[in-house]
Amino acid sequence: AENRLTQMDKYQMLGSMAASIAHEVRNPMTTVKGFIQLFRQQKDLEAYHSRLTLISSELERASSIITEYLSLASNKVTEKARHRLDDLIRYMLPLLEADAIEHNIALNLVLEEVPPLLMNENEIRQLLLNLFRNAVEAMQGGGELSILTYVEQGGPVLEVRDQGTGIDQKVLGSIFTPFFTTKAHGTGLGLAVCRSIAERHGATIRAHARPDGTSFKVMFGTGVWDLRLSPATS
Ligand code: ADP
Ligand code: MG
Repeated sequence: AENRLTQMDKYQMLGSMAASIAHEVRNPMTTVKGFIQLFRQQKDLEAYHSRLTLISSELERASSIITEYLSLASNKVTEKARHRLDDLIRYMLPLLEADAIEHNIALNLVLEEVPPLLMNENEIRQLLLNLFRNAVEAMQGGGELSILTYVEQGGPVLEVRDQGTGIDQKVLGSIFTPFFTTKAHGTGLGLAVCRSIAERHGATIRAHARPDGTSFKVMFGTGVWDLRLSPATS
């Protein structure tokens, strides 16, 4: 019975999300349509170019809303294999570095060797990228972005720390809610996707305020840890 209930909750959630996504995707589409209509009277080449840039970024946004929504809605069982978090981050380093340099950000890696985890590599990569992107976006003036791996309470932890704007106490409870965003061009899906990926890996994800910014911690726990938490033993 418990399973059926969560299934129903899921369908209800997907239904209301489908309505939101239709709304969210229609906004950039309307912008693009408007600009294309304006082109008919456009003679000025510079204005033409800046509008093309806007069109392209709005299409990008619509497309990322759809991609992120799909990865949120998919509850298919994804294939998992054993990998170490620290290895996965080292592998992604060139990508992260390029992005950091472009935004005047110093990347600080503190990668302790952690026990291997049963993970879907693509999903964990996506999770890290979403946290990384948010950190970069919070540090418009540059600063230091740290990515750490270590073991806490017997389980591997992935932590992303930034020296950004911080998160307002009032919105802290909403940041993982789908479509919640404080950004003019945000999708509000990045952290919702992170949470859903974390859940699929039996991990918990939390935001912590720091004196100079924010940190996001993803705690994976261990088999033993899971056993202790399981309701069957209580
Ligand atoms: P988006 O990035 O599209 O706004 P997210 O789900 O990734 O959507 O994030 C939701 C909100 O959480 C952001 O709009 C921002 O207000 C807040 N947030 C997330 N990460 C950070 C961070 N590292 N520093 C400050 N605020 C953050
Ligand atoms: Mg984001």
